[in-house]
Amino acid sequence: MNRLYNALQLKRLYQLKELGVSYVPLIEKRSGPATTLPNDLGALEKIVSECRLCPLSKTRTKTVFGEGNIHASLMFVGEGPGAQEDISGRPFVGRAGDLLTKMIENAIEIPRSSVYIANIVKCRPPNNRVPTPEEAYTCLPYLMKQLEIVSPRVVVALGATAYHYLTGDKSGITKVRGEIIDMGSYRIVPTYHPSYLLRNPSAKKEVYQDLLKIKRLLCEK
Ligand code: SF4
Repeated sequence: MNRLYNALQLKRLYQLKELGVSYVPLIEKRSGPATTLPNDLGALEKIVSECRLCPLSKTRTKTVFGEGNIHASLMFVGEGPGAQEDISGRPFVGRAGDLLTKMIENAIEIPRSSVYIANIVKCRPPNNRVPTPEEAYTCLPYLMKQLEIVSPRVVVALGATAYHYLTGDKSGITKVRGEIIDMGSYRIVPTYHPSYLLRNPSAKKEVYQDLLKIKRLLCEK
C-alpha cells in the first residue's frame, strides 16, 4: 500500500514538474491510494486505455495493460511493450513472448494462462528505447495497483528496468539475477528479459536455474 502511495506521489511530482513547478510543499497523505485508482482490473484497464499522462501516449497504437489469471500466485513484469505488443494490445507476443511462454510452461511447468503478465510502462517507447524515469514513474501506480489486486506471492522482474522500478535498486541485472528479494507480501526474483536471451542464448542456463528456484518458491507453503 505504501509503495502504491509513494508511486502516486512521484507521479504527481512529475506532473507538477511538467507544468514548470520547481517546489511543492509537503504533500499530505490523504485517504490513501485505493480511493485514487479502482480496485477492479477492468475499471483500471479502462483508465489506462484512455491515459495521456506521459509522452508515450503520443506514439502508441494501443495501450498494453497486462493479462492473465487475476488470482495468480506468480506475476511477470517486463519493461514495456514492443512493436507487436503495441499493435496487438497484448503483453509478450512475438518471439520474446514465445520464449517467455516456454520458460513458464517448460521450466516452471504451469500454463501461461495461470500467471499474470504486465510491464512497467503500458505504452510502447519509440524504437524500443528504455522508458525515461518520468515515463516509468508516471505509469508505475498502474502496475502497483495491479500488484495489489492480483496479489501474487512471487513476482519475476524480467530485466534491469523492471527490477529497478520494482525495488528502487539500481544494481545491474547480472549482479542480482536469481536473488530472492522480500517485499513483505510478495517476493521478487529478478532474471534476464526474454529479448536479452534471444540475443544471448548462452544465458538461458542461468535463467533456467532462476526458474527452478521460482518453482520451488511457489511450492512453499
Ligand atoms: S505509458 Fe503509462 S503513464 Fe504513459 S501514457 Fe501510457 S499508460 Fe499513461
